[in-house]
Amino acid sequence: MNTAFLSVGTNMGDREAYLKLAIASLREMEGIQLVETSSIYETAPVGVTDQADFLNIVVRLATTLAPLELLAVCQRIEQELGRERTIRWGPRTADLDILLYNDDAIESETLSVPHPRMRERAFVLIPLTELAPECTDPVTGRQFRDEPAMQEGGVALWGSLEVGRL
Ligand code: ATP
Ligand code: MG
Ligand code: MG
Repeated sequence: MNTAFLSVGTNMGDREAYLKLAIASLREMEGIQLVETSSIYETAPVGVTDQADFLNIVVRLATTLAPLELLAVCQRIEQELGRERTIRWGPRTADLDILLYNDDAIESETLSVPHPRMRERAFVLIPLTELAPECTDPVTGRQFRDEPAMQEGGVALWGSLEVGRL
């Protein structure tokens, strides 16, 4: 069994509903067990700033899927939830990114793990370290909680998912 952490973000429509739908889809997938989900955080957009605020969570999975199979599942769920790929880093109903897969370092054409931009993203680091305070970056050897981006503002606790009631 493998451990993976995913980041799920949304900034269109009923954002909480999209998070819940993404989680419900993950739970239904063959080969995936949802172990836990972080609190929900609200984040001002980074990069393309002319768009609505995001809701972000991190989830911990136990999975028998290989990394590329897991990526395919993430992309299928994005499609199911109606994500349209228009502007990169633009608004979206759901973005599911693989942050970590065991302690693997993967560099392929379609998949980089650890996610190459996660170390600079408070909206990823804060929910990740909520679930796994000791979590260490397999590439740098540093704990994620020590990344300078953890200190950035712009990420606020927004609520929690009542997963039991999904
Ligand atoms: P960012 O990657 O900066 O968070 P994004 O999530 O908006 O941006 P997408 O449009 O969702 O980017 O994905 C672009 C491509 O990134 C995907 O087609 C996928 O092949 C690739 N990719 C590489 N590494 C990962 C990863 N760890 N998780 C998800 N997608 C990845
Ligand atoms: Mg992303
Ligand atoms: Mg993505």
